[in-house]
Amino acid sequence: MGDTLSLTDRIKRMIALQGPMDIATFMALALADPDQGYYMTRDPFGTQGDFTTAPEISQLFGEILGVWMLYQWHQAGKPNPFHLVELGPGRGTLMRDMVRAISQDQTASNALTLHLVETSPVLKICQQKTLAALPCPLRHHDSIESLPSDPLFTIANEFLDALPIHQWIYHKETWHERVIGLNQAGELAFGLGATRDIGSLPPPTPPKDGSIWEHNPLGEAICQQLGQKIGQQGGALLLIDYGYEKPALGDSLQALKDHHYTPILDEIGNQDLTSHVNFHAMQQAACHNDKQNTHAPALSAHLTNQGNFLLQMGLLERAGQLGAGKSHQDQESIRDAVERLAAPNQMGTLFKILAILPTGIDAPGF
Ligand code: SAH
Repeated sequence: MGDTLSLTDRIKRMIALQGPMDIATFMALALADPDQGYYMTRDPFGTQGDFTTAPEISQLFGEILGVWMLYQWHQAGKPNPFHLVELGPGRGTLMRDMVRAISQDQTASNALTLHLVETSPVLKICQQKTLAALPCPLRHHDSIESLPSDPLFTIANEFLDALPIHQWIYHKETWHERVIGLNQAGELAFGLGATRDIGSLPPPTPPKDGSIWEHNPLGEAICQQLGQKIGQQGGALLLIDYGYEKPALGDSLQALKDHHYTPILDEIGNQDLTSHVNFHAMQQAACHNDKQNTHAPALSAHLTNQGNFLLQMGLLERAGQLGAGKSHQDQESIRDAVERLAAPNQMGTLFKILAILPTGIDAPGF
């Protein structure tokens, strides 16, 4: 018999036995517990689900990113195989749309090998279905460790925000780990944990009592390893997510269910948990990791927001092409998608896009 306790009750039991839990452990359980974690048990996307991501809004998003990656493959000298890698591919929609755009180039299409890094068994099946009709080989990976030692053209959309973060809270001139414990009624509650040294990236502004500093160690480790791989093997890395360009203080942990924000501790395992991405930290991790290997080519980082990138890459022209000859209603919905993806008051400004490329390589859209 499996464990019949709810995830909330299991977490309460762990805290009762082991003491307060840090936010990263809590997020890892809520999102990735093999039996009851949010991503492990469902397809959360779309109007029927809890949230909608850019590739689910319009095919234009993936097609533009496909054109960008194709250009990078050309700049890299058309390595064969063309390893196209996606981290956290959700339903596989972004990959499908990218491949459609890349397949305009027959040589690229013939060289394509797809790699999906995914932990959720439910989403792996969903991705396999979405991509089943494509003629290119497709491999699933549980982590980036098993990716090939060749040039890698890697993309991740709304992946980093789903990884577990630590939060540190400033109290009486000392940083403490923010934790979840049990209150007097035996319910889960946030609290102050042990004092912590907050590491090598100090906040730019002096903290006040209650200030929060976040750290995404898994995201940084993944960026560091992929940066190292690109430095040694070549390729490109493109990361898209909501987040901020400069290090900043603040609590960005949020829970989402049925397209509404909900309290973090409400429905553990049944609601999405995310944080905003510190792009400065990801860029540092990707680009400054290879000090020992003086022969590796240096990497450069290019950062802008999603709206700028898509517009510079020709979003409006592509939308026009897609809408040509279509019904008034279809054209309206394309216009609506363009707004959602690029308008400053929608995804255009909040979402950032970070490219990590070998130095000297052109980065269109930035
Ligand atoms: N990129 C998709 C989905 C974003 S949701 C889109 O834009 O629609 C986050 C995705 O990351 C899901 O597929 C989730 O299962 C996956 N994921 C979360 N943690 C992961 C990890 N540690 N390793 C690999 N995939 C992970």
